[in-house]
Amino acid sequence: MRIVYDELYGDHLRGIPHPESPGRVEAVADFLRRSGKFENVIAPRDATTAEIERVHAPGYVELVRAEVAGMADFAGYLSTGDTVIDTHSFDVARRAAGGAVVAMETAMHESGSAFAILRPPGHHAEARRGMGFCVFNNAAIAARAAQAQFGARTLIVDFDYHHGNGTQAVSGDGLSYVSTHAFPAYPGTGGRDENYALPERDAIVNVPLPPHDFGTEPFVAVWERLLAATVARVRPDMLIVSAGFDYVKGDPAGDLGVDVEAATHLAALIRRLAQEYCGGRVAYVLEGGYDVDALARSVAAVIEAHDAPQTPETSGAQDSAIPASQRELLETIETLD
Ligand SMILES: [Zn+2]
Repeated sequence: MRIVYDELYGDHLRGIPHPESPGRVEAVADFLRRSGKFENVIAPRDATTAEIERVHAPGYVELVRAEVAGMADFAGYLSTGDTVIDTHSFDVARRAAGGAVVAMETAMHESGSAFAILRPPGHHAEARRGMGFCVFNNAAIAARAAQAQFGARTLIVDFDYHHGNGTQAVSGDGLSYVSTHAFPAYPGTGGRDENYALPERDAIVNVPLPPHDFGTEPFVAVWERLLAATVARVRPDMLIVSAGFDYVKGDPAGDLGVDVEAATHLAALIRRLAQEYCGGRVAYVLEGGYDVDALARSVAAVIEAHDAPQTPETSGAQDSAIPASQRELLETIETLD
């Protein structure tokens, strides 16, 4: 698996007490280095304004640039809401979007897998506003770049603890979206009534989960059914994964009561389906995950599952482990039309 990383990703919010800290990506890079997995690292580039504006409204890039440029030497909020920025945020966010694009291009050119270990995350960012810890919607920008450069239809697979309201809002026209997330929880969207079959085989698919103590086996079992059904409907040319690991037990901003090992099973599933439907093309883009040790071990587990000589077997998670409410919803998703 190819890795996309840049030390610049540590420059946003450095020295500012905030859960979305430079230590997140730095801990991942250190862990991978120590375990001999920090190889084949590709340097990202800045996303161009044109690339960002395939997802964001005209003027939003300039708004972020101007507000960051106008800041004094401490942190404040982006005027669109709850997103904390500092004097480095524009440069880092633009390179994060570029990192997602480079991971997509690498997966496309090599018919393989890539992981962009970046920050700030992106899935809450909507066309006209940053939101949560997100400035630009990295995964959606990569998806639209795949479409523009390669004519590729993409499916964004979002297993972060939180719903990717921003990604859902810009989906359609060759970009599909599938998510599990805690509900009710921030940002409040992604309820079971927000499932849509869109024209041309596109879809928006949400499976809300109880906010705590969901458990590892049910989580993996839900994804095994959910992703198989969604990929079979959408038949995308590539998968882009909004890889957030704040579902892990003990995460200070999430915690679905799921073990780190779940990442191995999710990645094995993604690898199998990418091979079956997408010529093996899959790009991971980091989203949440605020327990830095669990985050580092989860990313390493994904890389290991993709680099294993043979595609790992199914997890063995039992369908019967899925609670009735989610099982019923999966049945409606499997017949979505
Ligand atoms: Zn999250």
